[in-house]
Amino acid sequence: MKDTATQDLTASIEDSYRTQNPRSEELFERACKSMPGGAKGAYYHAPFPLTMDRGEGCYLWDVDGHKYLDFATHHTTQVLGHKHPAVMKAVQDQLDKGSALGAAVGIEADMCEELCRRVPSLDKVRFCNSGTEATLHLIRLARGFSRRSKIAKFEGGYHGSHDVVEVSSASPLDKAGSETAPNSVPSTGGMSPNVASEVLTLPYNDEASVEHLIAQHHGELACVIFDPKAGIVPQRKEFAKFLREITRKYDLLLILDEIVGFRMGFGGLQEHYDIEPDLTSYGKVVGGGFPVGAFGGRADIMDLLDSRKGGTGMFQSGSFSANPITMAAGYATLKELTPEAFEHLNRLGKQVVEGLNRLFERRGVAAQAVNTGSVFSIHFSKEKVVNYRTMARSDKAMAHRVYLALLAEGYFLTDGLIMNAFSLPTQESHINGLIEAVGRSVKRAS
Ligand code: PMP
Repeated sequence: MKDTATQDLTASIEDSYRTQNPRSEELFERACKSMPGGAKGAYYHAPFPLTMDRGEGCYLWDVDGHKYLDFATHHTTQVLGHKHPAVMKAVQDQLDKGSALGAAVGIEADMCEELCRRVPSLDKVRFCNSGTEATLHLIRLARGFSRRSKIAKFEGGYHGSHDVVEVSSASPLDKAGSETAPNSVPSTGGMSPNVASEVLTLPYNDEASVEHLIAQHHGELACVIFDPKAGIVPQRKEFAKFLREITRKYDLLLILDEIVGFRMGFGGLQEHYDIEPDLTSYGKVVGGGFPVGAFGGRADIMDLLDSRKGGTGMFQSGSFSANPITMAAGYATLKELTPEAFEHLNRLGKQVVEGLNRLFERRGVAAQAVNTGSVFSIHFSKEKVVNYRTMARSDKAMAHRVYLALLAEGYFLTDGLIMNAFSLPTQESHINGLIEAVGRSVKRAS
């Protein structure tokens, strides 16, 4: 389709969205007066994001009274669905005792034990309040342990919003340089001008280039941090295993970012990849719907934070780290995430991508669906999406139109259709409904 025709189509889909969502528009306009852009960065999309009223199980209701099947699940966090009774009860029980008591309450140790029980590479774990903090503390630990400062990360890898990890998380293609030796490009303004020189940027899915770059730079590297792009551009098992081998060969710490974790197996992503990283970051699901980050790994590294061992020069705390409400919700959530629960989620994950890919093939739509367990993405692209560059070249305007069209059908995904996820109460019939709705929405958006 010609550019003007697609712009007209986008405008007409946005117009009907406006008509259907007057209350959300009104609330957004009001919010813009006191908040930059009316909403946090990830919520905004044109013409304005919805305001939700409530959620229950796998459903959400917005302020205009529309009901949605929730395929976003709050950035993948609500794996049990909204207001799961076991989580509500655990939170209420803790609220009855007090929300924050200025001391440990015991549940944090239950949580750490549970994580160490599930994940063999975890000897010790600490909590914080976001994935951003988890990767920040791990990188500090890696630097403190190795006494080297530069880090290696992947182009398009996301690890939160502290400076060093926002290098090359979303490089503009005209600045990204060579595909096999990408430039290190700050992804947001306001970062220290020196920060790009602290980062070696590696390409995903390309063993030869990664080996070459690590061989050149290993002497300066504190660690390699790896976001396997779960459910977005899922990295191959062989690639993860290769990374584990190459980091061992060059005596480098490997940090696995599992913040989109516990979405496909009892032992998290490293069980799926069959690797043991030195350090791992967690977030999202682990907080049971409340703010969380967690990080852990080898005892000899984590013990740099052991306050009994004064003089390590390392420290981690935070007013609300391991706060009782998050711990209660997270522990209740993990208890519900049994192997059977993952079996259900993984079966539906397979159903959604197989169904969507069959639909795209039958209709000749240049699109592909990918998943890691219950997290999935739809890329509108002719070429196979295997790394940052191929993902960046996909048709974002088409994804936006399909997203809006799906809202009108009662399906709440993510704008961009990247990192969608469903919850445990979701059933096969819901997935079939979604696949049919994607079929109608793609037609409307084309
Ligand atoms: N790492 C990964 C892989 C993530 O997906 C995210 C969040 N989407 C983060 C880190 C940052 O987590 P948070 O938003 O809790 O800071």
